[in-house]
Amino acid sequence: MRLDPRFADFHPASDLLEGRVVLVTGAGDGIGRAIALLCAAHGATSVLLGRTVEKLERVYDEIRSAGGPEPAIYPMDLSGAMPPDYEALAARVESELDRLDGLVHNAALLGELGPIEHSSPEGWQELIQVNVNAPFLLTRALLPLVRRTATAHGHASIIFTSSGVGRRGRAYWGGYSVSKFAIEGLNQVLADELDGASGVRVNSLNPGPVRTRMRANAFPAEDPQTLITPEEAARGWLWLLDARDLHGAALEAQVP
Ligand code: NDP
Repeated sequence: MRLDPRFADFHPASDLLEGRVVLVTGAGDGIGRAIALLCAAHGATSVLLGRTVEKLERVYDEIRSAGGPEPAIYPMDLSGAMPPDYEALAARVESELDRLDGLVHNAALLGELGPIEHSSPEGWQELIQVNVNAPFLLTRALLPLVRRTATAHGHASIIFTSSGVGRRGRAYWGGYSVSKFAIEGLNQVLADELDGASGVRVNSLNPGPVRTRMRANAFPAEDPQTLITPEEAARGWLWLLDARDLHGAALEAQVP
């Protein structure tokens, strides 16, 4: 597998996202970290949402030492966050940044792989909480600001992060696979609702196999050097954040 040429050959100017605000969940590690860094390198103010403050602070420092716009750190454990927490987040983004051009739903748990009949109910619930309920609650709370940004500036983008097992079920991928099917459903329903003049683009992107902790946990025997890096994968998100004509699509970041 290799990065789709649309993304690999995308070399935008470093001010592509200047003045724009992009919130990334799971911004402390893996693909989310790479997306936040790449957005900042192209001028965006990144809102770094994640559960491990030290990781978010490291990303903050990396952005600042590379000369990027000052990011905002928003520590939040999506497994325990309640609707009022999402409302508080939305109020803070609105009062401090006054716009949201990109909402990147990236954070997810892999959970335990194994047969459905051996899946623990507690593990299942946590997976659905982080992988499905959190993107729903975050979208619900932030949509007014995203819509207002699109109206004022012509364009805004919501991106859901999918997976191959969210498009075709596979044995032993349990709650993770089911959660990614739900994400595809959320993508389709929201895209259909926002079709028309809102200017908000809604799409899902499957990164394919990427060299991260999650992938290593799922495939411990695999040589990570055979996989694309999070930095390469992040180019797909940058491309999609800028794409004005794509709406309701389910994209693949890699091609055979
Ligand atoms: P990682 O495990 O490397 O990173 C996941 C990120 O999500 C981390 O920053 C993690 O925070 C955060 N996170 C997990 N649980 C919570 C929580 N409860 N609250 C807040 N943040 C949380 O995964 P990847 O980078 O590999 O995956 C990114 C996305 O890409 C996911 O949606 C995944 O499903 C998808 N994907 C990845 C593939 C791959 O090959 N890597 C393939 C297909 C899809 P912390 O570091 O603090 O734990």
